[in-house]
Amino acid sequence: MKSYDVAIIGSGPGGYVAAIRCAQLGMKTAIIEKYSTLGGTCLNVGCIPSKALLSSSHHYEEATKHFEDHGIEIPGEIKVNLEKMIARKQAVVDQTIGGIDFLMKKNNIDVYEGLGSFKDATHIKIDGKDAGEIEAKNTIIATGSKPSNLPFIKLDKERIITSTEALKLKEVPKHLIIIGGGVIGLELGQVYRRLGAEVTVVEYMDRILPTMDAGLSKELNKVFKKAKCKMMVSHKVQSVERKGDEVIVKAENKKGEVVEFKGDYCLVSVGRRPYTDGLNAEAAGVKINERGQVEVNDHLQTSTKNIYAIGDVVRGAMLAHKAEEEGVFVAETLAGQKPHIDYNLIPGVVYTWPEVAAVGKTEEELKEDKVEYKVGQFPFRALGRARASGDIDGFVKILADKTTDEVLGVHMIGARCADLIAEAVTAMEFRASAEDISRYSHAHPTFAEAIKEAALAATDDRALHA
Ligand code: FAD
Ligand code: NAD
Repeated sequence: MKSYDVAIIGSGPGGYVAAIRCAQLGMKTAIIEKYSTLGGTCLNVGCIPSKALLSSSHHYEEATKHFEDHGIEIPGEIKVNLEKMIARKQAVVDQTIGGIDFLMKKNNIDVYEGLGSFKDATHIKIDGKDAGEIEAKNTIIATGSKPSNLPFIKLDKERIITSTEALKLKEVPKHLIIIGGGVIGLELGQVYRRLGAEVTVVEYMDRILPTMDAGLSKELNKVFKKAKCKMMVSHKVQSVERKGDEVIVKAENKKGEVVEFKGDYCLVSVGRRPYTDGLNAEAAGVKINERGQVEVNDHLQTSTKNIYAIGDVVRGAMLAHKAEEEGVFVAETLAGQKPHIDYNLIPGVVYTWPEVAAVGKTEEELKEDKVEYKVGQFPFRALGRARASGDIDGFVKILADKTTDEVLGVHMIGARCADLIAEAVTAMEFRASAEDISRYSHAHPTFAEAIKEAALAATDDRALHA
């Protein structure tokens, strides 16, 4: 039986990054993945394929709606070839997965294909292509998550689907009904709206993106409405039924009336649940809590001393970069270092267009915590760069402590915000004040100038261009 310093179960961004960092730190490392491809949800059916389709559909929308504004005329009809678009997405996924295979080899990490399950705290059984057993001094559980469902919905995976099927549809839906106005619903809703589907978003809470700053929800809701999506907030779904090629969704509105939506596809995107099926965690004494998460302490250590857990399977945001940070954290802990993660500074991004991005506290959280704060906000439409490219929707909002001026939260919606948020994370990591940001130079003309202007607005209400 082969023996390792560390075995990692699951090869998503948490698991494969943990494996690389363990190997870099000199540990003999194995990674076990039940599927034939590495990369987990993120690479196979999550971040990468969804962003490929968002990019392709964005190009289509630009070509059909905005090229003319720029004086570009395309003679004849511009058409979508969905089969080719999905094939391109798959090629991007395959190439990215190939990169992980390369990294495993480069770092001398042994890869086992098969379902990993605990025999005890130091032995893992592998069922599948590389069947057998290995011994590991330490194990990192990185088994990720799967889509959640509502108890009364029968997912047939043909017309009543999750994000996994929505990434490989064979036709553009005529009417896509989306249950859940969170990240997945809005990203994939925008993909199919751009490609020509009628889109209805049915959200239980009184706003889309209910965990983000309300200002962002409001602005993105406007964008979706402008694109003629039906945004049905405060609607509680009661039933989803398929009749032939038709899907009927019934939901109760605020007044207690039952509203019916008829479409040809229904995407259920009501969150994801931690995944520990088949892991046999109890054989190793690893506790799973009532929410299905592997229970961990501040060191990401489970109830069994030599077993750690990271990523979507533990508490916190279900984000690839959060899983990666935790992978590095555990590897460095095992090597005797003292790493640190500031969970308040893990940014959240929605890759719609305009993009939505945030870090730190929302206004709602600051009010709840009774923190006195000031607000500096700057609209993209006041920027030369935004007008030049035609991307004028959105704003940057900076929340700073009323007394110390320390930046407590940055919330933005607009072109390239997914990348702009990195400046806010850096500033907050170094505990910058709004005045600090307002005093360093931002290249002109850029979208980043909105951050400087919002900082000026927060400092003394002295934005220069508004
Ligand atoms: P996962 O990526 O879920 O990987 C877990 C792996 O463990 C899987 O490969 C699974 O097969 C394997 N496994 C499970 N049990 C066993 C076992 N017993 N034995 C062997 N292998 C096992 N996040 C972002 O930050 N940005 C985005 O843009 C983004 N977009 C997304 C889009 C979609 C459509 C979805 C669904 C998710 C998206 N996410 C995004 C979330 C992101 O994919 C997850 O947060 C991330 O993949 C979590 O990483 P992980 O390593 O914890 O788990
Ligand atoms: P989510 O938590 O973002 O959104 C789920 C939405 O469904 C919420 O708005 C919630 O109020 C709503 N909802 C719940 N029950 C409902 C009901 N009965 N009826 C109507 N609405 C209901 O979850 P998601 O969009 O499924 O995404 C899952 C996870 O994947 C998220 O945690 C997210 O972090 C991650 N993800 C991230 C990205 C990104 O970073 N860009 C992209 C996709 C997914």
